[in-house]
Amino acid sequence: MSSFNVRQKLSANRLRAKKSLGQNFIHDENLLRKIVRHAGDVSKGSVLEIGPGPGGLTQAILEAGAKKVVAVEKDLRFSPILSELAIAFPNRLSVILKDALEIDLRDISDSPLKVIANLPYQISTVLLIKWITDDIWKSNCKSLTLMFQKEVAERIVAGPGSRKRSKLGLLTELYTEAKILFRVPASCFIPVPKVDSSLVHFEIRKAPKYRVDPSKLNIILRSAFNQKRKMLKSSLKPLFSDVEKALNTAGIIETQRPEALELKQFCELSLIHP
Ligand code: SAM
Repeated sequence: MSSFNVRQKLSANRLRAKKSLGQNFIHDENLLRKIVRHAGDVSKGSVLEIGPGPGGLTQAILEAGAKKVVAVEKDLRFSPILSELAIAFPNRLSVILKDALEIDLRDISDSPLKVIANLPYQISTVLLIKWITDDIWKSNCKSLTLMFQKEVAERIVAGPGSRKRSKLGLLTELYTEAKILFRVPASCFIPVPKVDSSLVHFEIRKAPKYRVDPSKLNIILRSAFNQKRKMLKSSLKPLFSDVEKALNTAGIIETQRPEALELKQFCELSLIHP
C-alpha cells in the first residue's frame, strides 16, 4: 500500500463522522508517521490500537514494521476498510469490533505491548484511568502513546503548584512517566474539531512510584479534587477522625489546597487513612 487515502476511503465508503463516537480522523500522512515514530520501536511484541476508524494510523503502525497489531473499533461501518488493510498486511492485523472499555490489557499475552491511539475524546480519560489503575505495571504493556485534547494533556502533566493539577495527573504519575510530545492543530483532523490536541507518551513504571494504598488514595484524591478550592483540612475532614493530625503526619500543612501537594504526600496520607 502506498498512500493512506483517508479522505478517499471515507468518501468511497460514504462514511460521515459520528460525533457521538468522537470521530475526528487524521488525514495528514506525515503526522501519522510522526506519531508512530514517537512510540518507539514497534517491531517487537504487539501494538494495541484503540479506534482505528478508516485505518490511517493503523497503516502507519504496520508500515513502521509492527508484526502484530490488534485494532479495537466500536463502529462496525469501518469493518470493510479495515478488512482490506488486513489483506494488504497478511497475518499482521487483527480487528476486534467491540467497545474498547471492555478490553483488559492484562489479557494480552504478547510482550512488549505498546498502545498507540488517537483516542475518541469522550472516553479518553476514562480509558486512561481504567488502564493505569487496573495494575498496568503488572501487565505486558510498556508504553502508551495517546492523542488527547490539548487541555486534557496539560492536566495530565501538570506538576505541584499548577492550577491544572488534577486527580488524573497524580494517578498518571504514580504508574507512568508522562510527557507531552507535541501539539497537533485542529486542522490536521477531519472533521475539524473545536480544540487543538496533544500527543502524550507514557512509559509504564515497573512498580508504583511510591508505596501506596491504591483504593484509599483514590478516595482521598476524589475528596480533595472534588472541592479543589477548599483547604485540605476541610475537604478531607470526613475521611479522618483527626484530620489535622493525619495531615501533619504526612508532612502536609492543613491549610494547603490539593494542587500544592506532591504525589508522595498523598501516597503517605493513603497509608494513614483508617
Ligand atoms: N484512528 C483514527 C485516526 O486517527 O484517524 C480514528 C480516531 S477517532 C478520534 C476515534 C475512533 O475511535 C473512531 O474510529 C471511533 O469510531 C472509535 N471509537 C469511539 N468509541 C469507541 C469505543 N468505545 N471503543 C472502540 N472504538 C471507539
